[in-house]
Amino acid sequence: MSFEKYFDDYQVPDLFLESKMFEDISRKNDACPSFALVGSVLDDDHFLKVWVEHKDVDLREAMTCRFAITRCCSLFDEKTIFECNSVHDFLPFLIAHFAGEMSMLNRIFRIYQVSKTNELFSLIGPSASYPACSAEHLFRFLNMPNVFLLLTNDGYLECRKFTAGEDSEVDRRFRNQVLLDNLKHLQKCLSCEQVSFSSCNCKG
Ligand SMILES: [Zn+2]
Repeated sequence: MSFEKYFDDYQVPDLFLESKMFEDISRKNDACPSFALVGSVLDDDHFLKVWVEHKDVDLREAMTCRFAITRCCSLFDEKTIFECNSVHDFLPFLIAHFAGEMSMLNRIFRIYQVSKTNELFSLIGPSASYPACSAEHLFRFLNMPNVFLLLTNDGYLECRKFTAGEDSEVDRRFRNQVLLDNLKHLQKCLSCEQVSFSSCNCKG
């Protein structure tokens, strides 16, 4: 792909063309050229990218700033994480925030993968149905209908249960990556119906 094909009046800094950090993913119907950050690409839908607007402010279509770093993923709308007018500003941002941004992206990617291939839980949609939490997405466990995974658009993940009109987090120690790593241990005690990430001690 080449931005020059669709945006021949745009000037893109050499950094995007010469560095192996970026891959040109400009598309015909976009407002301006865009470049994926090669080191961030998890698959075709999950990666960080940089939009490069026109040098001339008056000719910019989508953004007021020249550059914007955004996060692309399948479960959420594309999210702007940083805007600036000079490559000298966004490189320090990337150095400082790349690991954190990738950590969020990785969590979203992983829960997306699990929800697509796993029988454990399924996406039931936005959290309007679960007003107690500000989650953007809600997943319901198939074998435990009152247990949910809440995922916010910054990649925060936690497990909650809803019993007898009360909503509570299953275990504060199990959030984000730790939760994902221990998903297979999540269970409901057949005696006391306690939901936890380990066997129950109720001796029921
Ligand atoms: Zn028990």
